Amino acid sequence: MDIKHIVNTLKSPSENDINLIRRAFDFSQKAHQGQKRKTNEPYFIHPFETALKVAQWRLDAPSVAAALLHDVAEDTKYTIDEIKKEFGEEIAFLIDGVTKLGKLKYRGVKEKAENLRKMILAISQDIRVVIIKLADRLHNMKTLSAIPANKQKRIALETEEIYAPLAYRLGMQMVAGELEDLAFPYIHPEEYRWLLQNIKDQYEERQQYAERIKPIIAKALKENNIEPLKIDSRAKRWSSLYKKLLRYNMDLNQIYDLVALRIIVETVEDCYAVLGILHHVWPPLPGRIKDYIALPKPNGYRSLHTVVFCLDGKPTEFQIRTLEMHEEAENGVAAHWAYQQAKSGEDYIKGRPIFAEKKELAWVQQLRNWQKEISDSQEFLGSLKVDFFKDRIFAITPKGEVVDLPAGATPVDFAYQIHSEVGDQCAGAKVNNKIVSLDHKLRSGDVVEVLTQKNKKPSESWLGFVKTSMAKRRIRLAIKGKTSIMRGKEPAQTEFKLIVEDRVGLLKDISSVFSRAHINITKTTANFEEKKRGRFPVVKIRCLISDKEKIEKLVLKLKEIKEVREISYKLV
Ligand code: MN
Repeated sequence: MDIKHIVNTLKSPSENDINLIRRAFDFSQKAHQGQKRKTNEPYFIHPFETALKVAQWRLDAPSVAAALLHDVAEDTKYTIDEIKKEFGEEIAFLIDGVTKLGKLKYRGVKEKAENLRKMILAISQDIRVVIIKLADRLHNMKTLSAIPANKQKRIALETEEIYAPLAYRLGMQMVAGELEDLAFPYIHPEEYRWLLQNIKDQYEERQQYAERIKPIIAKALKENNIEPLKIDSRAKRWSSLYKKLLRYNMDLNQIYDLVALRIIVETVEDCYAVLGILHHVWPPLPGRIKDYIALPKPNGYRSLHTVVFCLDGKPTEFQIRTLEMHEEAENGVAAHWAYQQAKSGEDYIKGRPIFAEKKELAWVQQLRNWQKEISDSQEFLGSLKVDFFKDRIFAITPKGEVVDLPAGATPVDFAYQIHSEVGDQCAGAKVNNKIVSLDHKLRSGDVVEVLTQKNKKPSESWLGFVKTSMAKRRIRLAIKGKTSIMRGKEPAQTEFKLIVEDRVGLLKDISSVFSRAHINITKTTANFEEKKRGRFPVVKIRCLISDKEKIEKLVLKLKEIKEVREISYKLV
C-alpha cells in the first residue's frame, strides 16, 4: 500500500493534487489504524484499492482523495463535519454521497431494480459519486468470500442487479463485466462449477489458437500499410458465456467468441479497412458482421464485429475498433469524465488531439437519451401524480429501505408512508441522527427515524405542512375521530395487467384511455426489463373502479392500442 502507486497512476498530477492525495492517504490510514477487514488484512487496504481504481479511471484528485476517505465517516471516530473542515466541501460532498449510496439496500425485487438504479443517480447528484461507489463495490466483491454466506448472496445479487447494469448504462463495460463475473459464482454456484469443468481446457486451447492467428493478421495488415496499435485476445467472461450458452442449449460449439481477437487501430477508416482485409484472408460467416460504429449499442458501445472461418476452418470472432472506442467501451463515463477534465488543460490538447477535436463522445449522447427516457416517463408519471426525480425525493429508513416522497415532504409524510399507525403515533423524528422538527423538509438520501408514542393523536396543525395526500387523508380522518370506522374500508380497486410491445409514448397512450374515461389511476408499474430477457414487457395499472361494465369498456378501449397484446384484470 504505497501512495506512489496511486500518484504514478495519475496523468501528470499537479503539486496540489499530490499534496491533497497525500493528506487524504495519511488521514485515512490513521483513522482506520488497528481496524481489520474480514479477510484479516488491515482495513486501509480497502480504501487504498478503491482509490487506486478511481485513479486508474483517471478521475480527478478530489475523487481519489474522497475514495481514500470514503469509509472514514462511517466506520471511524471521525465525522463528516471533521472531514469537511479538513478537506473542504467538495470532498465531503463526494464522501457523503458514497455513504448514502451504501445505505440503500436491494432486497431482490426485480421490478424495483430499475427504480433503485435511478434513485442511485438521483441521490448521487454527481457522477463521480457513482464511480467511486463502483470502485468500492468492485473491491468488496473481490473479497466477498471472507464474509458470512448469507450476506454473500445478497451482496452478489445486488451487484448483479443494480451495480453491474448501472456500470453498463454508464458505458463502463469492463467494470460491468468484472462485477457480473465476481457475482456469478455466488448466485449460480452449480452453473459455475459446470462451466469450470467443461470449459477450462477449451479456454486454454483457444487461447493458444489465438496466439497462432496473431502473426498472420499482423502480416496481412502490414502488407496493406496498416499499423495496428494492438492485437490481443480476450477470453469471454463466465457470466456472459453462461447467458449465451442458455440461448444455445448449452452447446459450446455454437459459441464463437469464447476467445475473441481484438484489433485496435488508429482511425475509423482503418477499422473498415481491417474488416475488408480480414474477409479477404478468411471468409466471413454470413450474418455475423455487426457494425456498431454506424449503429452504436444503446450504451454507446462502438466497434466492428465479425466471425470468420479462420485457421483450420474454425469460426472465430474479431472485434475491430479505434483506441478511443476501446477506452470508451472499457471505461465509458469515467473515460469521458477524464477527457472533459483534461480538455481544459494544455497538456491534453498537445498530447491527445484526437479527443480534443471530437465534439461529442457517443456515450454522452447515450446518457442524454437515457435522461430523456427518464424525463419522458417523468412526464407520464407526472400525469398520474407520481412524479420522479425533479419533484421527488428518496428518504431512507434506518434499515436501508427507500421511501419515495414528493419534494418538500416532512417526517410526518415519511411516517405515514411507512404505516398509517406510525404516522398517527408520530411524536418526533431524527434525520441523519439529529432531532428535527416535524415540519422539517426532507432531502434525498436523508436517513429518517420516526419516534412514536403510544396513544398519540395527529395534530390538526400537521395539515399545514404535510405534502402527501395519504398523510392529509389520514390526519383528517383521525381528527374527525372516524379512524376506526373507516379502517379497512378502502375503496374497491381493479388491477389491469397488460402484456405489451414496447414503444415510445405507449404508457402515455395507455394512461390517457383511463383519463378520458375519468378514472383515477392509483398505481402503475411497468417492467420493460422483461424485454431484455426476450419476453414482452408487462404493465400493471390499478384504478378506482369495480363496476364490471366499466371495466369491460376499458378493456375494449385498451385493446384498440396496437401494441397491447393481452389484457387481464382482477379486483384487488
Ligand atoms: Mn467501502
